[in-house]
Amino acid sequence: MEDYIVRATAAGNQIRAFAATTRQTVETARRHHDASPVAAAALGRLLTAGAMMGSMMKNDTDMLTLQIRGNGPIEGLTVTADSHANVKGYAGNPGVMLPPKNGKLDVGGAVGVGLLTVIKDMGLKEPYSGQTILVSSEIAEDLTYYFANSEQVPSSVGLGVLMEKDNTVRCAGGFIIQMMPFAEEKIICQLEENLKNVSSVTSLLDRGYTPEQLLEVLFENLGLEITDTMPTQFYCNCSKERVEKAVVSIGRKEIQEMITDGEDIEVKCHFCNTAYRYTVEDLKRIINNTYKTERAARREEW
Ligand SMILES: [Zn+2]
Repeated sequence: MEDYIVRATAAGNQIRAFAATTRQTVETARRHHDASPVAAAALGRLLTAGAMMGSMMKNDTDMLTLQIRGNGPIEGLTVTADSHANVKGYAGNPGVMLPPKNGKLDVGGAVGVGLLTVIKDMGLKEPYSGQTILVSSEIAEDLTYYFANSEQVPSSVGLGVLMEKDNTVRCAGGFIIQMMPFAEEKIICQLEENLKNVSSVTSLLDRGYTPEQLLEVLFENLGLEITDTMPTQFYCNCSKERVEKAVVSIGRKEIQEMITDGEDIEVKCHFCNTAYRYTVEDLKRIINNTYKTERAARREEW
């Protein structure tokens, strides 16, 4: 089954909902980063949320970034998504290994105590940015808390990644449910009842539930209306030119030293681990171009 997101409303637009199946997205991320099971689960949950939150944005050029900075051994997570649900991401330490907690992958332990930052770049002068503390570091609850406290939208978020015995991804997915300000009390109560029937997203996905069927369980007796579906995928738009910016940031002195050493360098894209080679000639060109722009900028200042 290809990965996709379902968008829906319920109770006559009092609720909006998103559900996704993301096995291939998470498996692609796991392969790119050679991620351990707990890192794949943590990154997979954030990628799944990122894909759904990306699909909430309106314009083609809108970009969403989810950043988790915690004191745990995974050393933070970063995910970005566009409005077409193309998503990519990485963990600071994708090789992190932890003993299971209550028989489950210890995502909370890997992430640790810290902050969640959501940045939405919608082409305005300043991107929107909201930050909340991590309440459980299990990611879904942290996003629920973020939506309620930073965006003032009462929400319910469920995310899950289940690994195979061979450490590949068996299934992954999730949902985001959001209450509109005019949602009636009885609707909210019914939804809370329904949510009790979904103890874990992965147990339903593993039983073969589609995102549509997941929403049917969540919105039983609540008048579910599927609006549309959208494919989602792990996609990195890096190129030698884009990664060159990272080379520039090393600093002129250091690049000059590399040129003196006379050896090619290899720089990897954070998001997908693709390696790009820069020859001494490339490095000289980078120095020249950067120097030229700096000179031009200085001239403008005069
Ligand atoms: Zn890349």
